[in-house]
Amino acid sequence: MVNITFWGVRGSTPCPCEANKRYGGNTACVSVEAPDLDPIVFDLGTGLRFFGDAIGADGPFRGLALVTHLHWDHVQGLPFFVPIHQPGSSIQICGRSDEGTLREAFNSFMRPPFFPVRPDDLSGDISFSDVADGDFEWGRARISVRDVPHTGATNGYRVEVDGVVIAYVSDHQEPVDGGGIAPSVLELCRDADLVIHDAQYEPQEFAMKADWGHCTVEYAVRVAAEAGAKRLALFHHDPSHGDEVVDRLLVDARNFAAGTSVVEVVAAAEGLTVALSPASVPTAAV
Ligand SMILES: [Zn+2]
Ligand SMILES: [Zn+2]
Repeated sequence: MVNITFWGVRGSTPCPCEANKRYGGNTACVSVEAPDLDPIVFDLGTGLRFFGDAIGADGPFRGLALVTHLHWDHVQGLPFFVPIHQPGSSIQICGRSDEGTLREAFNSFMRPPFFPVRPDDLSGDISFSDVADGDFEWGRARISVRDVPHTGATNGYRVEVDGVVIAYVSDHQEPVDGGGIAPSVLELCRDADLVIHDAQYEPQEFAMKADWGHCTVEYAVRVAAEAGAKRLALFHHDPSHGDEVVDRLLVDARNFAAGTSVVEVVAAAEGLTVALSPASVPTAAV
C-alpha cells in the first residue's frame, strides 16, 4: 500500500483562519510513503512542519524532497522540519533554480538577515540535486521530472512505486490563449492513479489573474482527463477560498469529470491520506 498524505494544501501564502479550518491553511507539502521505502516529500511548504511532527524523533530521518520551484509557498517549511535537526538525519532536495544552482538558491534565501539559520547550520545533512527533464530512482521508486509551465523554472514530478503512479503538478499556468496542454505535463500524468494538481481559480478569478501562473479547476480536470488519469486531487487552493468555496469547486470538478477517465475527485485537505495499491478500485464520484 502506498500512502499519500497532504500536510499543506494551500498556494501562495499560509492562511490559517476559521473559514479555512477544514481544508487547512498551510502551504504545499505532500508525503508519499510505502513499506521499507525512505519517504518522498513533494515540496517543502509550511505543511512540512506537521509531517515532521507525525514522524517523531525515533532515530534519524532519511528522505527525498521533490521541490517544484522556489516560490515561498514551496520552500518555507524546511527549517521547521524537526527531524532534520537530528544528527544523522539526511534529506536529499531535488529541484531547479532560474539562477545558479539549487544549493546557491537555498543558501541565498535561508541566511541572515532573512532567517537566522543557514542550511549548513542544521544538524542533519542536506544535499541538493539540480534536476530537470530526467528520470532517476529512489530505492525501488522511479521518479520522472518534467517541465511545467508556471512563472519561472518549474518542475512537475511523477512517482511510480509498487505499481502505483502519482503525478504532482502543483503550480500550472493554463494557456491564456486557450491552447493545448503542455506535452510534458500530459507525460507526467499519463494513466496516473492519482494526479495532484493546481486548482487555484474560479473562471472569473482566472480572467483577472490569467498570467499569474495558475489555472482553473476545470483545467485541472481537463489535464487529468486528457492524460487518462483515474483520480484527481484538487490542490494549491487559493488562500481566499474558504471551506465552502472549496466544497463548491469540488462539486464543479466532479461534474466536469463525469464521463471521463477520472472517476474520483477529492479536494486535498490537511491530514487527508489517500491509500493506493494496484488493486485499488476508484469509487465513483458523487
Ligand atoms: Zn505555489
Ligand atoms: Zn509558484
